[in-house]
Amino acid sequence: MNDKNEIGFEKRVIDTRTTVCSVVVPLYNEQDVIGETYKRLTAVMEGLGIPYEIIFVNDGSRDDTEQLARAICAADGRVKLIDFARNFGHQTAITAGMDAACGQSVVVIDADLQDPPEVIPEMLEKWYQGYDVIYGKRISREGETFFKKFTAKVFYRGLNKMTDVDMPVDTGDFRLIDRKVRNALLEVREHNRYVRGIVSWLGFRTCPVEFERKKRFAGTTKYPLKKMLRLAKDALLSFSFKPLRLVTGTGVFLSCASLIYLIVALILGIAGILGMTGIIFTALCTGLFFVGLLMIFMGIQNEYLARMFDETRGRPLYVIRDRVNFDDYDTEARKRQ
Ligand code: UDP
Ligand code: MG
Repeated sequence: MNDKNEIGFEKRVIDTRTTVCSVVVPLYNEQDVIGETYKRLTAVMEGLGIPYEIIFVNDGSRDDTEQLARAICAADGRVKLIDFARNFGHQTAITAGMDAACGQSVVVIDADLQDPPEVIPEMLEKWYQGYDVIYGKRISREGETFFKKFTAKVFYRGLNKMTDVDMPVDTGDFRLIDRKVRNALLEVREHNRYVRGIVSWLGFRTCPVEFERKKRFAGTTKYPLKKMLRLAKDALLSFSFKPLRLVTGTGVFLSCASLIYLIVALILGIAGILGMTGIIFTALCTGLFFVGLLMIFMGIQNEYLARMFDETRGRPLYVIRDRVNFDDYDTEARKRQ
């Protein structure tokens, strides 16, 4: 048997005596989908015939998600639950799931079945071949608004231009990572996280698996415009210093431009072409314009400053209220791996 794949990586040796795959599912107000998600995921994972675990992370849901997740855990020991003390956000929920995962590979998938679980076997196949990060690439997005599709397109491409890290476009957090990658990710404890960016930053052998992004099975998006903007901001500020350089560049340009303006206004004033009120009015307008600009620039700098403050405070990324079906000792031990 050939133990190399088509591009020469060593084929992976899997130990089927321990958990081969951990599936992390973040949940925020997903009472309408959790049952179906569990069914579809279980059907796919059982079909593979490998030991697996499903880790639900309840991110401070305000509906019956927690109770439903607990009921599933009570009936099926392969399903585990991490219950957050409050809503910490999607990216943090994913992180907590990865922290607790004991599988040789870890899959992150949304709860709403927009990322079809049926793609997981294909991802595992690539992993067996030797790839470390297998990310889902959306070739189409069904049932999403024009606004969402347009902003996503602009965002992924714009981000690539602004950062030095090569991030695949049209890619969400639906991906499979090898335990090595998960362990490396564990070392990156930055707050205001953009997990897919951090995974790209880590490197490793990466490969896409294409899929069609389906309609949400039920419920509504948990990413309103405010959360979308926050994610975009986290992505940009954690991976680029270009906004700061933009400030400097604009400053230099404006200083030169205003100097030229001053000279021209003086000449026009002396020549009597521009009256006194004209000079005062334009000076006032330009003054206000620059004050506004300065405030925007200070705002940009303060965003970076706030992030630094967030890191220096050293607060934990998340607080767990309860764990279900976890061996506590194991979880702590795993954290130190
Ligand atoms: N989610 C979460 N915490 C949040 C917001 C969302 O855990 O604060 C979860 C949500 O339950 C889902 C995934 O993150 O499993 C993606 O959210 P959603 O499907 O609403 O985002 P969209 O697909 O609309 O971008
Ligand atoms: Mg979704």
